[in-house]
Amino acid sequence: MNDPRLQQPTFATILFAAMSDGFEVIVVGAGPAGCAAAYTLAKAGIEVLLVERSKFAGGKNVTGGVLYGSALHELIPEFWKEAPVERRVQRHVISMLSEKSSVSIDFNTGESGHPESAGYTVLRAKFDRWFAQKVEEAGGMVITGSRADDLIWEDGRVAGIVAGGDNIPAKVVIAADGVNSLLADKAGLGVGLSPDNVNQGVKEIIKLPRQTIEERFNVTADGGAAMHFLGFCTHGVHGGGFLYTNQESLSLGVVVQLKALIDSKLKSVELLESFKEHSTVREWIKGGTPTEYSAHLVPAGGLRMVPQLYTDGMLVAGDAAALVLATGRALEGLNFALASGIAAAETVKMAKEKGDFSQQVLSQYVKLLSESFVLQDLVRFYGAPQYLENPRLYGVYPELACSLAEKVFEVDGNPKRTVWQLARAEMKDKVSLWQLIRDAMAARKTI
Ligand SMILES: Cc1cc2nc3c(=O)[nH]c(=O)nc-3n(C[C@H](O)[C@H](O)[C@H](O)COP(=O)(O)OP(=O)(O)OC[C@H]3O[C@@H](n4cnc5c(N)ncnc54)[C@H](O)[C@@H]3O)c2cc1C
Repeated sequence: MNDPRLQQPTFATILFAAMSDGFEVIVVGAGPAGCAAAYTLAKAGIEVLLVERSKFAGGKNVTGGVLYGSALHELIPEFWKEAPVERRVQRHVISMLSEKSSVSIDFNTGESGHPESAGYTVLRAKFDRWFAQKVEEAGGMVITGSRADDLIWEDGRVAGIVAGGDNIPAKVVIAADGVNSLLADKAGLGVGLSPDNVNQGVKEIIKLPRQTIEERFNVTADGGAAMHFLGFCTHGVHGGGFLYTNQESLSLGVVVQLKALIDSKLKSVELLESFKEHSTVREWIKGGTPTEYSAHLVPAGGLRMVPQLYTDGMLVAGDAAALVLATGRALEGLNFALASGIAAAETVKMAKEKGDFSQQVLSQYVKLLSESFVLQDLVRFYGAPQYLENPRLYGVYPELACSLAEKVFEVDGNPKRTVWQLARAEMKDKVSLWQLIRDAMAARKTI
């Protein structure tokens, strides 16, 4: 990946290009939201500059990560044939852990399944770099190792960015600078991060030979497994664990609500270490070599957290706008970032045709998002963040599932009881039937 085209142009080059009228569009952040926006614009022949603070796109980015690819497939048909995806997920496992045991649902699609709606494991350092390269191939300009520090304002509208002490003018700016978006804050479009609406993720990459992965996880040569864990992996703290297979490594981590983590007085790195020690997980990662550790925040407040998404001369996409779906089934941020980046770019294309980058025209962005899964899913799962506050999901229920399974499979020479009788006995002093029904009803509505 030592493509000379990815060597960053100097600011002199950028300034030279910008000196006349500036860029038509500046996109800040070369994550999936920013790359999707810049690629869409570049392909439409619009002059776009993509600015990334890391030395190379994806350099510091963290994702579990399973990419659900339908949005990317629309932009780059059959992207999985050229993008550096690791494995197509064919096996989905959800496990509830108690301290010593686990109960799992294991769904294996085999080699069938639809490639356009499948999940693909990705490593961001490779994936984002590839995507930034696609932006350049499409005619966009990419500068890495350069942080956007501020916005330029002209007559009350955003008119470019300040980076490295230089002013770079543009007709419109797309802020795709991730969860701690400096630019959205500066424009008064910030999401208002607080410990109860943001999760902290920690992740380790563990190297394992390709063949070991395929045998151990019972997957095909390009197939992979996505495993999600609930319960003892977070010691009852609001959140969960994940384990994804890459070509020659595993991505293992925990994602927990920041407030619950602070209240628990535990550290996320301690949770990760204890997760690795769990008897179930230990077997999956046996013989592996940890090679990389990273931590990152991810918005978790759902629709309630989504700010105004545009102002005169500016749009906000991806995590910067809290466009992330966390329902407890999976964490979907990459596909939301991609789809919102594309929608932001489509809005800019419309604005360019009209020669008007005012907020009246840029408000079309919300219409496009409302027509896509992005806002429709966030509306449908509006109640999920509140439902996920329920502490029984992370303690009582995983414990109960494991202890019930133990009793169900125990043959001790005594007369057997029905599963229902066993369940009632296990529930005693843990959760009332009434409480269980109420939680189930709430789950039905919100998840
Ligand atoms: C541990 C963990 C596991 C996850 N697992 C999954 C998963 O399995 N599936 C899934 O779909 N989602 C997952 N997510 C969420 C997903 O990673 C995010 O939703 C997604 O990365 C958002 O993309 P983005 O482009 O909006 O922001 P980012 O990916 O954060 O990209 C923002 C970019 O902007 C750059 N930047 C920031 N500030 C500036 C600046 N001032 N100037 C220039 N550049 C700047 C950053 O360096 C970065 O490259 C996970 C998140 C975490 C933390």
